[in-house]
Amino acid sequence: MNILPNSLHARDIAYQIHPYTNARRHERIGPIVIERGSGIHVYDDQGHEYIEALAGLWSVAVGFGESRLVEAAARQMAKLPYYHTFSHKSHEPSIELAEKLVNLSPAGLDHVFFTNSGSEANDTVVKFVWYYNNALGRERKKKFIARNGGYHGITVASGSLTGLQVNQRGFDLPLPFVRHVTCPHHYRFAEAGESEEAFADRLAAELETTILAEGPDTVAAFIGEPVIGAGGVLVPPRTYWEKMQAVCRRYDVLVVADEVINGFGRVGTLFASDYFGISPDILVVSKQITSSYQPLAAVLVSDAIYQGVADQSERLGTFGHGFTGSGHPVATAVGLENLAIIEERNLVENAAKVGEHLQARLREFVDHPLVGEVRGVGLIAAIELVADKASKARFDPVGKVGQYFFAKAHEHGLIIRAIQDSIAFCPPLIITEAQIDEVVARFARTLEDVTAWVEAGMPEEGQV
Ligand code: PMP
Repeated sequence: MNILPNSLHARDIAYQIHPYTNARRHERIGPIVIERGSGIHVYDDQGHEYIEALAGLWSVAVGFGESRLVEAAARQMAKLPYYHTFSHKSHEPSIELAEKLVNLSPAGLDHVFFTNSGSEANDTVVKFVWYYNNALGRERKKKFIARNGGYHGITVASGSLTGLQVNQRGFDLPLPFVRHVTCPHHYRFAEAGESEEAFADRLAAELETTILAEGPDTVAAFIGEPVIGAGGVLVPPRTYWEKMQAVCRRYDVLVVADEVINGFGRVGTLFASDYFGISPDILVVSKQITSSYQPLAAVLVSDAIYQGVADQSERLGTFGHGFTGSGHPVATAVGLENLAIIEERNLVENAAKVGEHLQARLREFVDHPLVGEVRGVGLIAAIELVADKASKARFDPVGKVGQYFFAKAHEHGLIIRAIQDSIAFCPPLIITEAQIDEVVARFARTLEDVTAWVEAGMPEEGQV
């Protein structure tokens, strides 16, 4: 696109630093400026319509332009636009949402701490766990075990838990309190002939070996997303979580389920912990809690952790942790209304039903020469593109095909996420079967273009 002087596009290049963006490339191509949204669609300032098949950032459960959330925010803005929750202050929406989350979440999670983002929530998890173990006099029990391929955020502690190079290279991360174990992705990491269940057994054994090698008295917690999202939509073997959880229990290692993407229906159950039989000691939620209409995340903890933290706060005089926006009244009011919509419109059931349709439609591509794997559950899925189907060889360089696919998909009115060369789908939970068919049609048209480009030897723009 031709970038006119003083246009919104030129001013964006001049003034705004973008997250997850190659800044030099951005200077060359400029932004896509999204102006408005309605249902599963968003529209840019050039008049193009797109299906938002990633729900923004895996998050807009109820779709765009939901007036009930606008009204809930406006009502709360008029009544009490801001107040904090420090030093014994509180307000109705944060109290109601905390109670609601405890009632909805898996058994054994009884207390809630609010933050503004998933990253802050996972930093809060680390601090809760350290504070709790200090309260119990277990000063050495501080290490976290996370997985390669996992995503837990980008702040200094959460970015250390994340198991993706892109978030650590150049940033002097990870910090030394984290160990990463094998990514539970059978397609890539199983040994030849290894069944899904044998793979799960091996990963549970690896976790046990890691805990023993570090010393169980030094390992505090194991953290994972039930279904990995940003790392490529990776669904673990069916019994992986039961097996990992059993190892954790044996060594008094806390289980932390990061459901920032999974929570509130994404996999077809309210929480993915329910789907996999996880009984977490700590649960982290965000994104679909407000459909991202407001920034909000929550950390739910067991009563045992709360009691330790409460005792320690009395000993030290206060729990010296919190954010200006913790439990923000507008965010929590929007969260309450959003969860009410999810319940009233049976969006969790919709995710299960329409999700089956999505999974079936995407599996129609398994025989395509560029498709290595089709994977997913509920309304989250990915198609991994490979250079060689038989050997599973990746493209060289990794990510080039994904980036081309991402750009081409825009031309076909489809917003997906390219994770290296995997194409991820995570549409709003309100999506219908007919709309899924339209997503699949736009995907197929993009795949046709991309296949032709790969067959032509992946020429650079301008050489096509
Ligand atoms: N955990 C998971 C599982 C996530 O997917 C994300 C964000 N994609 C985060 C944590 C971090 O959330 P935020 O971007 O709000 O900091």
